[in-house]
Amino acid sequence: MRAVAVIILFLAAAFVALWQLDVIKFDASNRGANRVSTRTQDFLEVLQTGTLEQVRESLANDSNIAVQDRDGKTPLMYAAAATNDPRVIFELVNAGASLNVQSDDGRTPLMHAALENNNPEIVLALLNAGADPTVLDAEGRSVYDLAGDNGILARTRVYERLEDLTTANFDPTWPSGYIVPVNGANFSSRINHLPNAPRAYRNGVHEGYDFFNYNVGVGIDYGTPVVAVASGIVRRVDQDYVEMSPLEYADIINEASIRPITPPESLDKLRGRQVWIEHPGGYISRYAHLTAAVDDLAVGDEVSQGQTIGFIGNSGTEEAVNGVQDEPHLHYELWLNDERNFLGENLPPEQMYELLALVYGRVGVPTTFTE
Ligand SMILES: [Zn+2]
Repeated sequence: MRAVAVIILFLAAAFVALWQLDVIKFDASNRGANRVSTRTQDFLEVLQTGTLEQVRESLANDSNIAVQDRDGKTPLMYAAAATNDPRVIFELVNAGASLNVQSDDGRTPLMHAALENNNPEIVLALLNAGADPTVLDAEGRSVYDLAGDNGILARTRVYERLEDLTTANFDPTWPSGYIVPVNGANFSSRINHLPNAPRAYRNGVHEGYDFFNYNVGVGIDYGTPVVAVASGIVRRVDQDYVEMSPLEYADIINEASIRPITPPESLDKLRGRQVWIEHPGGYISRYAHLTAAVDDLAVGDEVSQGQTIGFIGNSGTEEAVNGVQDEPHLHYELWLNDERNFLGENLPPEQMYELLALVYGRVGVPTTFTE
């Protein structure tokens, strides 16, 4: 009899202890199925303070990515609020976490990051994964308003970026936290330097953005550094590039001028020395006509946003094959899923500049433009 009483007392004490530790939750709402279990609690803990490896392990253990706590918060919201590693965000998004789901207070993962996380990288990671920055919470506040309450974040450049985005024309097809590939530069104010501009010599259109030494806000020289527009993984780096001979170049140009479509191999030659980076969401940025890639940069390397990856040159151009350093410029492209669509494809200039403001921030867009 006494033994039974002791056992009951012990179980009661254990229950109270677990309750206090928040391991057992009482869900007042109708989310019976979503009651947070011990296992989920562990998962949420790992998302806030764990390493990328621990997060991967938890995901491999079949953790429920769509679970919501009694406030409607998802695992991605927990990570957004507390992790210090942007890769944790990408890992969850790749595992299927919903980017624009809202907790009971109407807040998205992006809003939780802006309000609670002091690391601007986490906000950028969510923007680059495709989070919608134009959603309002239950009180009608934007992600920019919430970031204003975060004393640390509000002193970073990301805060200005969020202000831009509250009035942007959100396009879920493209990321919205990239930077321009040359520090301090804006995209060219000449339409001829943008995608879709005709390139009569090869009967085709331009597929990228040119940064020459005028119309981009900063000086462009032979050797000006090129930076990664967003974090990602190096997919191509032409460390051993050999310039074409004048004869080889002439053959390619002659062939291109008589064929309706320039073969991809020829187009690739005309881009010269290149670096390609794959970003979360399947985007690929290509940096062309480089004079050099950064020493030791190799396929498979992780690069972070703003990291120097190469230097502007004129490789693959007529000037380069003739051995002079004239007309150095960066030719930059952004592709969605490799060869299918490039940023700006078929868009008239006004809409293209609007899209550039979304993807790279208003600071990257010229105020006026010309032919
Ligand atoms: Zn170009």
